[in-house]
Amino acid sequence: MSEHKDFLRTIVEEDLKEGKYKEVVTRFPPEPNGFPHIGHAKSIYINFGIARDYHGHCNLRMDDTDPTKEDTKYVEALKDAVKWLGFNWGENVYFTSDYFPKLYNYAVQLIKMGKAYVDSLNEEEIKEYRGTVTQPGLRSKYADRSIEENLDLFERMKKGEFKDGEHVLRAKIDMSAANMKMRDPLLYRIRHVHHFRAGDEWFIYPMYDFAHCLSDYIEGVTHSICTLEFENNRDIYDWVLDTLELEPPRPYQHEFARLGINYTVMSKRKLLELVEGKYVSGWDDPRMPTIAGYKRRGYTPESILNFCDQIGIAKANSMVDVSQLEFCIRDDLNKKAPRVMCVLEPLKVTIINYEGSEEIDASYYPHDVPKEGSRKVPFSNELYIERDDFMENPVKGYNRLTLEQPVRLRHAYIITCKELIKDAKGNIIEIKAQYHPDSKSGSDTSGIKVKSAIQWVDAKKAKTIEVRLYDRLYKNEAPEGLEDLNPDSLKIIKNALVEPAVITEKPDERFQFERQGYFYADPVDYTEENPVFNKIVGLKDSWTKKSKTENKPKQEVKKVQIHGEEAPMNETQKALFDKYVDELKLNNEVANILARDESLSKFYEEALNVFNSPVHLANIVANEVAKELKEKEINKLKFNAKQIAQLIKMVEEETISNKIAKQVFEQMSKTGENPTQIVEAKGLVQISNPAVILPIIEEIIAKNPEMKAKYQAGNEKLLGFFVGQVLKTTGGKANPKVVNELVAQKLK
Ligand code: ATP
Ligand code: MG
Repeated sequence: MSEHKDFLRTIVEEDLKEGKYKEVVTRFPPEPNGFPHIGHAKSIYINFGIARDYHGHCNLRMDDTDPTKEDTKYVEALKDAVKWLGFNWGENVYFTSDYFPKLYNYAVQLIKMGKAYVDSLNEEEIKEYRGTVTQPGLRSKYADRSIEENLDLFERMKKGEFKDGEHVLRAKIDMSAANMKMRDPLLYRIRHVHHFRAGDEWFIYPMYDFAHCLSDYIEGVTHSICTLEFENNRDIYDWVLDTLELEPPRPYQHEFARLGINYTVMSKRKLLELVEGKYVSGWDDPRMPTIAGYKRRGYTPESILNFCDQIGIAKANSMVDVSQLEFCIRDDLNKKAPRVMCVLEPLKVTIINYEGSEEIDASYYPHDVPKEGSRKVPFSNELYIERDDFMENPVKGYNRLTLEQPVRLRHAYIITCKELIKDAKGNIIEIKAQYHPDSKSGSDTSGIKVKSAIQWVDAKKAKTIEVRLYDRLYKNEAPEGLEDLNPDSLKIIKNALVEPAVITEKPDERFQFERQGYFYADPVDYTEENPVFNKIVGLKDSWTKKSKTENKPKQEVKKVQIHGEEAPMNETQKALFDKYVDELKLNNEVANILARDESLSKFYEEALNVFNSPVHLANIVANEVAKELKEKEINKLKFNAKQIAQLIKMVEEETISNKIAKQVFEQMSKTGENPTQIVEAKGLVQISNPAVILPIIEEIIAKNPEMKAKYQAGNEKLLGFFVGQVLKTTGGKANPKVVNELVAQKLK
């Protein structure tokens, strides 16, 4: 069981204690309209996890009520994901479409009770009659139809006698309800389309609000756990189940916060756009936040579950830093992955005083990993090392091979550079070196001091592989569109070299290529002729810690540094760096920037004291504040740490959007005003309340009927149009996430 009890588990425990249910039954109810992503992993972890912890059951149910977007391939992907994460749904996968006959009967029952009617207003009229948050709606004149007429019309709707949109079935609740969702919600609509499972049998399809609660009830679900955007739907959920006077016990809905991760998009709709536009190679592209993508990239299910456990379950929406996920995978692989050697950019080394060849026994694991095993690494007088492990004119603090400075070849001997061979343009193409026969790793009596050990491969025995290095899919933390895609998210190295053991090991193995990162044989493109390896994740930049231990090479090569290597950190900086990475979970770059600059780290810690949001604050200090500091001295800054903390607090509490925060920061740095003052004076408070946003959305949709029709005919890109209009109308103040969700719902 997860260590910390969250609010959902608290509810479940109380219900069990009170004897409300004999057994806990949850369900994971995805719509099969795309591949599941890391957000779904959170939902899977919650639903299956709760069922497991309380010895209950979790159903896997395909919520397939919108035949225009659904497909069997998505059903398979969803099953794969649940299975891969290690959960078991029992004998059956359930489908809402299997309940269509039952749902139809429940609808008939509601009609007979006088609680549902066939409405013949068109869509625009229905919107218009619904009223606004401040104005009650008007009931349709068709609401007075007799029960007989309603039954007759509904049956004929089912038989396909009417065109799409001609009639709908609505619940008769309250056209002046404060919760707009309760203003006679739609229960069924006519759709003359083929359903991937139900075939052509149905011409009417139930709406989510009708189908979901009843499917839960039919399956004996006890706790129907969903994300926060369904909070207002809960009233309908309860109304349907209570009105039908179903035999108890009945399920109850509970909401939790959706997971968001920075530097990526998450909704299936946006991911589908990337797939269809060929911005990625498919749903399982290793850069995608899909379960299939993570799986192909080499993530382990354990690491994803661990991540879900760490982020916890809350009631407030939040954005999680992707580096937290990366931390989890690194943490998992550190304990499991054999260490091997790979050279990405080879530079030839000829050892002039070595003859013949040998095989060196080399352990797969460092001492602090409780695993054993070793392999033979071939060694001869022709080797390759990493090009940037040699510097002709070394920068200060460079610890690897130079003309004067010897280096250890990991697991093998110490070498000293004797001569450089250059091409006509002056590029180094080969190093001639001398090895020290008495310096062999494990039995070194040479007395030669080296500052580091580097990876290498034997020139004749090494295998050529293709290596795919991945970076974030988007260059912005909160991407807004395709223009934010990171053009450098994939880098392919065609001629990397690995020691032979990597190829002979079983292909499902995840390796640590020492000092490079963790790698995984690509399950799709790997062939014997062209072995392809994906970089799963980089290593923690801990060279500051480990470079002193001779046999442990420093961990990460920072490829971003163009001008050689940075100077080593002093003790204080190192301590700060470690704290930032280990405790505060900052990513290496940000931790590095902060730790090395005293005024920045002081500023950061001061801000942290005011508002404890390590990652978010670190990002703004390492970027925006640092930029200001390049131009001014710290005591000339117009703003102080406390104000920055206030700014971030407003963003996290969703008082203002990220976009507005940038605007506010600019003004702060010019005038020194308090962020709260600026926001107040300019009226920049973010609008997240659906009740305020909905009428605006409805008005915009009503004004653009053609756009809406095109959207519903399949041009999903138009969603952006509607969202854009809403944001524009509110001067950028509407919460884009809320707007996005509401617009998508409204256009359904
Ligand atoms: P998307 O917008 O990505 O299509 P969705 O909510 O429409 O997501 P469904 O397939 O309907 O996706 O969701 C299945 C389950 O997964 C639901 O219970 C939903 O609440 C949950 N879920 C979806 N996205 C997230 C997320 N980002 N965080 C947590 N749970 C999520
Ligand atoms: Mg959806």
